[in-house]
Amino acid sequence: MQPHLRLKFISLAAAALLPAAGQAAETPAAPRPYGLVIHGGAGVIERKTMTAALEAEYRAKLTEARGAGYAILARGGTALDAVIAAVKILEDSPLFNAGKGAVLTADGTCELDASIMDGRTQAAGAIAGVRHIKNPITLARAVMEKSAHVMLTGDGAEKFAKQQGFEFVPNDYFQTDARRQQLETARERAKQKALGRPTSSLEADPFSRTARYGTVGCVALDQAGNLAAGTSTGGMTNKQFGRVGDAPIIGAGTYAHNATCAVSATGWGEYFIRVGVARDIAAQVEYQGATLADAASATLAKVAALGGDGGVICIDRAGRIALPFNTAGMYRGYQLSTGAAAIEIFGAN
Ligand code: ASP
Repeated sequence: MQPHLRLKFISLAAAALLPAAGQAAETPAAPRPYGLVIHGGAGVIERKTMTAALEAEYRAKLTEARGAGYAILARGGTALDAVIAAVKILEDSPLFNAGKGAVLTADGTCELDASIMDGRTQAAGAIAGVRHIKNPITLARAVMEKSAHVMLTGDGAEKFAKQQGFEFVPNDYFQTDARRQQLETARERAKQKALGRPTSSLEADPFSRTARYGTVGCVALDQAGNLAAGTSTGGMTNKQFGRVGDAPIIGAGTYAHNATCAVSATGWGEYFIRVGVARDIAAQVEYQGATLADAASATLAKVAALGGDGGVICIDRAGRIALPFNTAGMYRGYQLSTGAAAIEIFGAN
């Protein structure tokens, strides 16, 4: 059965309207809209399996991350700084699949991917498969700002980090008991499948889906009208040697361009790479004049048609946002200069 597509779309067009030409000079200019959207991953997140205490923990951490980013925007800071601040808080929390609490590879270690993009200049930075960098999003930013490249991987990325004076942590720092348990479950499922035991494929297996939610991301619009997007993840539980998902791929998991929108994705990375999700959304806005909501839902439909699932967060220059997902839930939140704000976890059903 095709998963149901849920949409959230907030229009801030009114807030973005500037005085018409010829209007009296004393009319104060409408304030520039600004704001941000965050996500903490999409997947099998259902009310019936979440305790009130755990839900409260998620809400508190999402609120903290959103607040840190929004405070930067409210005092005139950059969208890039807001993205970094929000993502770092989520990376530091064991609740999410990024930084501390990242999912484990088939070898039982954590390998982290992250990327960031500046919508003003279309500068971008990404890292993949790093094992010892406490906040991968900050290394992605350093690649963008301090190297001649867009993406660095594995040992090379860590060599660059050393040159840049980054903090190194042992791989154990990222690993949690909950993720070890998820790896055990995923291994057991894979074994059963190899023996031909389960009737469902791993792709249809709710456990593999459950075990991979928690990627984090943020998209922001600052008071200068600049957009930025960032995404950080541990990838997917039980991932094989060297596997890299969509999160560090510019145009798949992350994209930002001031002329269109900023997008951060979460979901089954292989499908998100094949669809080129983040750029596909921006391309519809650019070439077809599509609304963010229509573009995002059309792109997620392409992911679903291939057999993948997940969600995206998007913001455009006018402060319009869209947060669609085709999974049971997605950790998400937004705060906008109009006063609109929310923290949400579950889908409509
Ligand atoms: N997109 C991430 C990846 O495939 C995982 C996720 O968002 O849950 O690495």
